[in-house]
Amino acid sequence: MISHSFADTFSEPQFYQRVTPTPVRAPKLIAWSDDVARRLNWQPSDALMQALAGNQVLPGMKPIATRYGGHQFGHWAGQLGDGRAILLGEANGLEVQLKGAGLTPYSRRGDGRAVLRSSVREYLCSEAMHFLGVPTTRALALVTTGDDVIRDMFYDGHPAPEPGAICTRVAESFVRFGHFEILAADGDKVGMQKMLDYVLGFYPGHTLETFFGELCTRTAKLMVEWQRVGFVHGVMNTDNMSILGLTIDYGPYGWMDVYDPEWTPNTTDREHRRYRFGQQPSVSLWNLSQLAGALSLLGTDLREPLEQYRQTYFKEWEHMMANKLGVADFPLELVKELDVILRLQEIDMTIFYRKLADCIAFGMPHGAFYQEMQVPTKEKLSLWLTKWRALKPDAVLMNKTNPAFIVRNYLAQEAVDALMKNDDSVMKALELALQTPYEVNNATKNFLGRRPEWARTKPGCAALSCSS
Ligand code: AMP
Ligand code: MG
Repeated sequence: MISHSFADTFSEPQFYQRVTPTPVRAPKLIAWSDDVARRLNWQPSDALMQALAGNQVLPGMKPIATRYGGHQFGHWAGQLGDGRAILLGEANGLEVQLKGAGLTPYSRRGDGRAVLRSSVREYLCSEAMHFLGVPTTRALALVTTGDDVIRDMFYDGHPAPEPGAICTRVAESFVRFGHFEILAADGDKVGMQKMLDYVLGFYPGHTLETFFGELCTRTAKLMVEWQRVGFVHGVMNTDNMSILGLTIDYGPYGWMDVYDPEWTPNTTDREHRRYRFGQQPSVSLWNLSQLAGALSLLGTDLREPLEQYRQTYFKEWEHMMANKLGVADFPLELVKELDVILRLQEIDMTIFYRKLADCIAFGMPHGAFYQEMQVPTKEKLSLWLTKWRALKPDAVLMNKTNPAFIVRNYLAQEAVDALMKNDDSVMKALELALQTPYEVNNATKNFLGRRPEWARTKPGCAALSCSS
């Protein structure tokens, strides 16, 4: 039922260490993804629930924490490792990992636990990304532990107990750029080759050079996807970059409500905005160049594939923007003008693009405006719409590209607030809605409005700290 190629391929303690999840007092299943369960070929059972809470290790499971390093906010941070993630093994070719199941040898000063609010956010967003068609790790289950976790949510000297939770994540592999970087820091050429051979298993037929080229392509495409749906990861350190080009480690991420390329949800990043929406593509390139630097221990020059990144990114971005506007060829001038118009006042990015498809004959995307449309906006937008209409946009293409539903930050927060009162109705409703993000239907229709005014400044809705 379960195997463990990571543990079977590598040795301790250079690559990982065996750990035992720390049992919890009163596990309760809060969410379960049938789709992920099907892929694993798993059925829910009491024994499995206990395993996903860390109270039991099922036959075949070999819990380990893996070792990696990383560049955090542009600086080499040394060894990090799975401080609160425990890899149980794999089923049907997919790795299963618990996040928040207790201390590991890499926990450093952390407690190995995760709070309910961050676990709900990870669960909802990774599932939402999947159904949006964005490469991502998945979530199988969410359990509350019955134990409290102490967090200083705003880092302002007010630690308080919060309910703990464990999110079960699933991916083909959780290997990060940082798994290579730590081996480079060790100067461990043999280990590096071993890690490479392992990763090449996920890239059949590739050599180091072509694998790296493919990773650059996947990462560039991922950045385009984040631009398409208005996602800001918030903490794109190299230890949070997937070797498969997946979105990984949902922490202080956010969805853009108001269009603003300068926006970052992460309060820790507020000053320099390194990880702001518009900068994500170039941060990825920086991260890839750190990885190329690490891989250079093997003596291969990876500058060529790295240089391809920009080209791939812009080609894909132009294609995506053309799709968003429903036209066949990338309309450079229109896109530039639209970028200016969208910043004239507070305009909701998701609603704007979605409503645009209703304006092909006539009309204005009214619902997207956070305040009344001002005269200069109206004038510029009218002119722009006339030019755009002349290109004969395709509404079907637009509605496949522009989601109607995203799990806005405030929606996830509403799910958390309700769960704190033992009410799982919002969670259930969002779980259903996120499965059809391109449709306006009974599941999504109540969640399509602008961010309400109360959420403008509310923590968890407007700004997220790394405390999780
Ligand atoms: P992140 O910024 O969440 O990606 O985490 C960076 C590093 O800190 C990783 O090595 C995590 O495993 C570790 N970490 C984060 N939170 C905790 C925690 N509560 N306990 C132990 N390690 C943690
Ligand atoms: Mg991380």
